[in-house]
Amino acid sequence: MIYRDLCGEKVSLLGFGAMRLPVKDGEVDYNETEKMLDCAIAAGVNYIDTAWPYHSGDSERVVSRILAKYPRESYFLADKYPGHQTADSYDPAGLFEEQLKKCNVDYFDFYLLHNVNENSIGVYKDPKWGIIDYFIEQKKAGRIRHLGFSTHGGVKMIKEFLDEYGEYMEFCQIQFNYLDDTLQNAGEKYELLTERAIPVIVMEPVRGGKLASLDEGIENKLREMRTGTSTASWAFRWLQSYSNISVILSGMSNMEQLCDNLATFDKEEVLTEEERAYLADVAEGMKDSLPCTGCAYCVDGCPIGLDIPNLISIYNELRFQSNIVSAMRLEGADEATLPSACISCGACSSICPQKIDIPAAMSDLANRISKMPKWADVCRERAALQK
Ligand code: SF4
Ligand code: SF4
Repeated sequence: MIYRDLCGEKVSLLGFGAMRLPVKDGEVDYNETEKMLDCAIAAGVNYIDTAWPYHSGDSERVVSRILAKYPRESYFLADKYPGHQTADSYDPAGLFEEQLKKCNVDYFDFYLLHNVNENSIGVYKDPKWGIIDYFIEQKKAGRIRHLGFSTHGGVKMIKEFLDEYGEYMEFCQIQFNYLDDTLQNAGEKYELLTERAIPVIVMEPVRGGKLASLDEGIENKLREMRTGTSTASWAFRWLQSYSNISVILSGMSNMEQLCDNLATFDKEEVLTEEERAYLADVAEGMKDSLPCTGCAYCVDGCPIGLDIPNLISIYNELRFQSNIVSAMRLEGADEATLPSACISCGACSSICPQKIDIPAAMSDLANRISKMPKWADVCRERAALQK
């Protein structure tokens, strides 16, 4: 097992993500999960990541029940505060106490503000809820050993959050893989965090399985370049060359995926420049995105003041994969900042060096968002399931 440093702790580079546990008859398959977690721990995995909403609340329960047989100091348990979930009120103290009880622990090794993004940042910062202050206090009290945050937000939002709270944030979890390197500007987020000396935990390294199964021709070429390796291993090895990454979380759903990952993380085998270049081509081929470079030339001329590059980045994500996480960045935002506010004046397109038809993109984005389920409804459904 490869180990790296995270906030002074020796953590396994492969983290056990408990968001996609094996399921049987609609429920987490406890026996299969136990076999997998035992096998992972025996192979040296010591970082286990769960969260309040995973498996409608069962992930915390199942994982901690399995971990109970291990000495508390032999593993690192990460959990999260769900401030990104829309609610009428927020009670960080009540929820945190419940999480400790549910997980049967006195402290969490790593604790994250879950998905700080353009939509949820207001909740996290609101003095009425006192969320960040509360968790800073819990850290002082030793009930959280290391405090950090996860995010699907844009680079600008992350920068603003770090400007205000960076001194309290010891680590950050982002979605990073060879496709999102450019599609979600994940490379830029990684660079920003590295500049600020904040270690990175990676989520979605194979983009929910998308990078574990590619076109036949590509898979044949990968096998030719490295015999005996799986398609998924390429995504993990691509990440291994980033020295500021401390943990790569994999949400494994069966033993086969776990065994494949354990083989990949047995020893460091980063990709060559030639191999990275090939994956960059593969990623380009998978995207059908508008060629926005983020130059922002269009922004000043927009009479509505829309953040066009940010909207186009969300549009590109949605075109690639209809994804509520992308769309939720816009939920609750002021109507005047939404793509539906575009009046199709065309001032932006005439200035865009990439000749993008921005009014058409705004119209299509507004249309796609109007058809997506509301994040607040998703939260309500999940909350009902947890009762
Ligand atoms: S077309 Fe829409 S996005 Fe472009 S400048 Fe006009 S209002 Fe702004
Ligand atoms: S001018 Fe064109 S390329 Fe530049 S940010 Fe606007 S849409 Fe993107």
